[in-house]
Amino acid sequence: MSLLYQLHCTRRMALKTMALSVASITLPITLTNCRSKQKSIRHIVTLSFDDGFKQSSIRTAEIYEKYHLSACINVIASAHLNTFRLPNEYHKWPVGDFGLWNELKARGHEIMPHGYDHSNLSQMELSKAKDQIMRCFDVFSRELNGFDSKESVFNFPYNASTPELENWLAEQVKAFRTGGDPINPLPYKNQKKLTCTSYGPENIDNHLKQEIERLLSRPSGWLIYNTHGLDDEGWGPMTSKCLDETLERLIKIDTVAILPAGRALNTLG
Ligand SMILES: [Zn+2]
Repeated sequence: MSLLYQLHCTRRMALKTMALSVASITLPITLTNCRSKQKSIRHIVTLSFDDGFKQSSIRTAEIYEKYHLSACINVIASAHLNTFRLPNEYHKWPVGDFGLWNELKARGHEIMPHGYDHSNLSQMELSKAKDQIMRCFDVFSRELNGFDSKESVFNFPYNASTPELENWLAEQVKAFRTGGDPINPLPYKNQKKLTCTSYGPENIDNHLKQEIERLLSRPSGWLIYNTHGLDDEGWGPMTSKCLDETLERLIKIDTVAILPAGRALNTLG
């Protein structure tokens, strides 16, 4: 089965096209400088950055752009408002606003919802949890250029969901991310539930490296690792140096693609 998918292009990298099969993805890459090569993708790595800290998000985007990659940044709909109540001490750093999110999206990064106010939706009545998610989508629809909830990946705060909420949400979105085994199967049609791990509150560098090794030791798979801020920001931060070195290493491995979650799913076209 051959399926086409157009990846984000930077100024220097005009077009990447990916054809997908169940066990691997063949990735012919065409560059503006006329170089081309074939990549047979068996591993996908998604670093799924939550909470939208301003400084970390800007730095994350810069590091991804250094390697012509798109970052996956999940933000809280109301975190930039004065009325926002910090969910806990791990949210005390300044966050970006939709001006920044629109700019990063225009630069090719993926901006996805991470709740209206970061409430734990698994601990609410179902109807209230649904209302919170719809409020979140309303803000995104109003504030984020080109946002379509049906094409979005909803990232549960605390990676906490319930079967009832998941069943309902599956009809509202392209997919959702919650807690579970971080090594998912490669993208397939109608894949709704994405599972991830995270680590904290201390630095995650070593844990992330271990999870990447675990992925690469398998014949195939899609690692979704829930990251937060960089350096000193957020719960379970990673160092900028680790992010830079991780991307530099992974882009050299022919079996690996580094993609935001929504874009990885869109490989199915
Ligand atoms: Zn969060």
